[in-house]
Amino acid sequence: MTTFDDLGLAEPILRAVAAEGYSHPTPIQAQGIPAVLTGRDLVGIAQTGTGKTAAFVLPILHRLAEENRRPAEKTAHALIVVPTRELAEQIGDSIRNYSRHMRVTHAVVIGGANPRTQAAKLARGVDIIVATPGRLLDHMNARVVSLTMVRQVVLDEADQMLDMGFIPAIRQIMAKVSAERQTLLFSATMPKEIRTLANDFMRDPLEVSVAPASKPIDTIDQRVMHLDGGAKRGVLVSLLREGDVERAIVFTRTKRGADRVAKTVAGAGISADALHGNKSQGQRQRTLDAFRKGRTQVLIATDIAARGIDIDDISHVVNFDLPMVPEAYVHRIGRTARAGKSGQAISLCAHDERRLLRDIEKLTGKSLRVVDAPEAADVPDQPKRFEPANAEANTTRRFADDDGEARRAPRRPRRKPNGAAKPSAKPAGRPGKAAASERPEGQADGRKPKRFSGENAGQRPRSGKPGGKPNGKPGGRKQRSGDRRQDQDRSGLTRMLGGSNAA
Ligand code: AMP
Repeated sequence: MTTFDDLGLAEPILRAVAAEGYSHPTPIQAQGIPAVLTGRDLVGIAQTGTGKTAAFVLPILHRLAEENRRPAEKTAHALIVVPTRELAEQIGDSIRNYSRHMRVTHAVVIGGANPRTQAAKLARGVDIIVATPGRLLDHMNARVVSLTMVRQVVLDEADQMLDMGFIPAIRQIMAKVSAERQTLLFSATMPKEIRTLANDFMRDPLEVSVAPASKPIDTIDQRVMHLDGGAKRGVLVSLLREGDVERAIVFTRTKRGADRVAKTVAGAGISADALHGNKSQGQRQRTLDAFRKGRTQVLIATDIAARGIDIDDISHVVNFDLPMVPEAYVHRIGRTARAGKSGQAISLCAHDERRLLRDIEKLTGKSLRVVDAPEAADVPDQPKRFEPANAEANTTRRFADDDGEARRAPRRPRRKPNGAAKPSAKPAGRPGKAAASERPEGQADGRKPKRFSGENAGQRPRSGKPGGKPNGKPGGRKQRSGDRRQDQDRSGLTRMLGGSNAA
């Protein structure tokens, strides 16, 4: 069996890896690291939980150790682009841990955090930038940082970046990196758009595939309970009260749904908190810290917010709502059974979700074990609010904002359950604030999204159809809430940085 010593990594890295308690490289590390050390491009088909972060961070650190050159002002040696803020912060933590015996600088460049602090760090020059696409572009356009000296680029969770509409932004970013770079791309699945991206940006990459997304890790016990949608909250409480639940993530389709379920669970005396994109970055970080440290037992999350969360010892993943996109199921259940441990994944399937279950079983090639739901606990009724799950699925388009949160915009004003038109119904695609939190969040929250390309991260096509011109100008389209937020962020950034980002 390969050891870390066999991989040829520099001594300070080996010491750090030993301090992490890793005895052997995982398959993606054993197969990927030697190739990356030779300078070869790499496509890693691997989901979170396979050790893929170390598979790209360790060789980057090795090259930094070998070259031992400080970065010039406003430049960086390596760039890691990721879809979400949480994942960026997590990778930042991994860099810190694995480089503890080295002098390596890194900057985490994400939306929702103070751009000035980021700009100050970038201006001094850093070895590694870990960034979400929108904010990185902002800094590039404000001429805070140049990527011409970047020699290694990692595109992590590329399929998620595709689903969030970040591919045009990635193309803009890659255009600014020297052609002499090494490119590493990691993705849980390989849709054809990611293949195209790899073909366009990589040279003869080695492809390493471990535990492909269509095959969830064997150590996860996957069960499904068929039940009435209305019984879900009570059944969930009963499940969470069972003795073997140590730490659980419950997935809901919408942000409002996450809040509602969190309220039910907390009301039943189980410590719980919701994690979704309507919360500030500070709130999200506090929620995650409390969960990580065990102060909160249950995290109720939307797909996007939970994406890439690396927390060990999650004993259970509960799909309160089945995901609209079957690949999301694989991502969700990958939260448990990490680093060789076993875990349980329980899906609550209402009658109208059977089609989604069939999609999941088709993708994974496996029928989920059907078990009886426990008796539903008594939970107080919650005021019935509009729940758009199914209606949304047929009437939504995707767009993504600047910093790692994808959203869906409803096409038309919707009706309240009593049939009355919403009094404040806005024109198509202009959701009000309340509608936003009821909107499915992210990739798994709506029906298989139409993919599109626009010229900026977070931009939808004007027509709502795929195929916007990658390098076109955004002229003439109406602003929607996501764009407004992005623009505000940009103009705020420009103001704070005292520069122009009109480039
Ligand atoms: P990742 O797939 O990068 O999200 O990593 C998943 C988890 O595996 C993290 O908690 C890592 O600390 C852990 N891990 C990474 N490499 C190894 C290894 N070689 N041995 C044991 N655990 C590892």
